[in-house]
Amino acid sequence: MKNKMFLPWILLFLVLLGSIPLILYYKGFTSAKIIGILVVISTSVALWVWRINTRKTSPRNSKVQLTTNDKHWLTQHIPFYKRLKKNDQTIFTDRVGIFLADVRITEVGKEQADKETQLYVASSAVIAFWGLPYYNYGNLREVLVYPTNFNKDNSLNKFGVVNGKVHHGGLMNNTMILSLPALIKGFQIDNDKKNVGIHEFSHLLDKSDGSIDGIPVYLGEEDKKIWVKLMKEAMEKINADDSTIPSYGGTSEAEFFAVLTTYYKECPHLLKVKHKPLFDFLERYFNQKNIEL
Ligand SMILES: [Zn+2]
Repeated sequence: MKNKMFLPWILLFLVLLGSIPLILYYKGFTSAKIIGILVVISTSVALWVWRINTRKTSPRNSKVQLTTNDKHWLTQHIPFYKRLKKNDQTIFTDRVGIFLADVRITEVGKEQADKETQLYVASSAVIAFWGLPYYNYGNLREVLVYPTNFNKDNSLNKFGVVNGKVHHGGLMNNTMILSLPALIKGFQIDNDKKNVGIHEFSHLLDKSDGSIDGIPVYLGEEDKKIWVKLMKEAMEKINADDSTIPSYGGTSEAEFFAVLTTYYKECPHLLKVKHKPLFDFLERYFNQKNIEL
């Protein structure tokens, strides 16, 4: 709270206090008594207001501080983090700390989510939004981490076809589900253009403008037209089996954006060689020109 808020109270207090000897000098005992009571009341009110205000301005969640061990863990398990310059690594760990303070991570079957699980989830979020000044993660509130894959109805199934899911609308609007083995595998294999954590958070980046439609937040009208044209052409090639972009990207515009963003974040050099116009567009979109990848 700004100290200036106290100025009127301090002035009132001083005026009232200063008037007491003056009134006593002119033998106004009753008035002096009233002024004395007013001083006590105004001081109490000032203290009460101060208490309410300081309570209001206290941050609800303070950023989670990563330990040296956590940072070491990131260099060992998150290839994207390892490739960053030192000062970008500091920004990365700050964002991981903010994410962990803001979003609840629930590991199904455990009292509390393991630290590793938390770091895998938070890193996925930070990587997907990396380079952008905006990161509310599509108003995400909770990530449910399942011990296996799951079915379309969200029930657990080791052989289920779903390993990650975000919701748009409905009761689960602010919830993401991830399969832990798939999440870990996404980071262990760093050259297959696939990572379920980054994929699902790319959907949330797409959702940040209100709809999951393959057109991410922040694009101006002109850029939207360019993007839609690039997307249409690239999807046609995927579906004609003439592309290095994983085939799932050809199923819908929304999947195309998530698949391509994951490809870009995991294998930028390959994307640059194989799909230069798409690479250039994403490079500009994510402001990643200065990052060593
Ligand atoms: Zn998807």
